[in-house]
Amino acid sequence: MLTAEIIAVGSELLTPFRTDTNSLWLTERLNTVGVEVKLKTIVGDDDARLEETVRDALKRSGIVVLTGGLGPTEDDITRKITARALGRRLLLDEKVLDDIKAKFLRWGRKMPEINARQAMVMEGAEVLNNPNGSAPGMYLEHEGRVVVLLPGPPREMKPMFDNLVLPRLAERAGGVRVVRRVLRVAGLGESAVDERIAPVYTQYKNPQTTILFNNTEIELHLTAQGKTEAEAELLLDGLAGQIEERLGDSIFAFRGEKMEEVVGLRLAVGGFTLATAESCTGGLIAHRLTEVPGSSTYFMEGFVTYSNEAKTRLLGVPAELIERHGAVSAEVAEAMAVGVKQRAGTDFGLSVTGIAGPGGGTEEKPVGLVYVALADDAHIEHKRLMLPGDRYLIRWRSSQFALDLLRRRLI
Ligand code: ATP
Ligand code: MG
Repeated sequence: MLTAEIIAVGSELLTPFRTDTNSLWLTERLNTVGVEVKLKTIVGDDDARLEETVRDALKRSGIVVLTGGLGPTEDDITRKITARALGRRLLLDEKVLDDIKAKFLRWGRKMPEINARQAMVMEGAEVLNNPNGSAPGMYLEHEGRVVVLLPGPPREMKPMFDNLVLPRLAERAGGVRVVRRVLRVAGLGESAVDERIAPVYTQYKNPQTTILFNNTEIELHLTAQGKTEAEAELLLDGLAGQIEERLGDSIFAFRGEKMEEVVGLRLAVGGFTLATAESCTGGLIAHRLTEVPGSSTYFMEGFVTYSNEAKTRLLGVPAELIERHGAVSAEVAEAMAVGVKQRAGTDFGLSVTGIAGPGGGTEEKPVGLVYVALADDAHIEHKRLMLPGDRYLIRWRSSQFALDLLRRRLI
């Protein structure tokens, strides 16, 4: 496999105020054409360190992509230092200079003299036009390696890479296509998932399977290589199908969708409406649902009934029921679901009540005890959960279980 490394240039990327996101994006893109990223470096605006980094990169990587530092100012050193590391001269390219001047004219300004620097091109390099900024990029083959220089601003760098660089690298990588698919699982633990599907996925080197545990859910990342995208997709279909046979409804997404998107789609397709009543999640479920565009067609209203009094006043949960069973109980969860459904006049009422901690737990009702309930015209059901984790995780997991309860009802 062809290997690449990425060098992000810029002192600001070494401060806590700017993050090098370019290399994450580039890695993803390079992977899709079968190029593996083995190393990434962030270098400040420092001549000696950048030169050393570029020299080292050329010793070990087939493709070296640099971003940033192509601006017109003295601290934009990438052009000069890369040329030095490669032992190539920088020559003024009259055509590039004219292009830059023309750009400034279009922006209604005269080109500042310092921008002429951006027309300096390494000997043997091809100029990559930058439609969204003044700094052009460069593409160069040097002793069997590829060196690419791109500007730092993502909105300039991304289209240049996709349009002018990626097709060439794809060809160089031998026409391999790599496709990734993310399956998401709810309601099963990590080891339960692995136990069920290990006999399947361990049989394959292609696709490759990685299990990621991500706070509230399990993600299965399947990566396949093929001569074409269609061939790789077919391999993924095959493995995804076998995994589905083993995990069934616990898989809620086959294309990386979020739980709230999946639930929203099912509500929309069925023409159903929903209202929520939340205690320990404090509106998190309503927040997640309404983050999905178009949610107004199915999500009608959400109550945050934190106190007992609010549960009674807003949802009609009898005070006596709370007195008898406690606010965190199956009875109260169900009464909340029924109450919110009735008051909102929706098809479904979904509720949560629990103890998110860190205080407030008792021996009988410890931190992490959560009840979720779902009511529609025909049934009321609840689930009792004992969730591990801190306050943040308990709240998040509660919202996930509640949404999953609704998802399963909608299947
Ligand atoms: P310009 O001509 O705009 O100066 P440049 O190539 O010199 O282009 P830089 O000056 O290095 O780019 O960076 C400009 C801005 O682009 C930075 O302030 C930062 O916001 C963004 N940027 C640079 N590098 C990265 C990176 N690796 N990841 C994300 N953003 C970046
Ligand atoms: Mg700059």
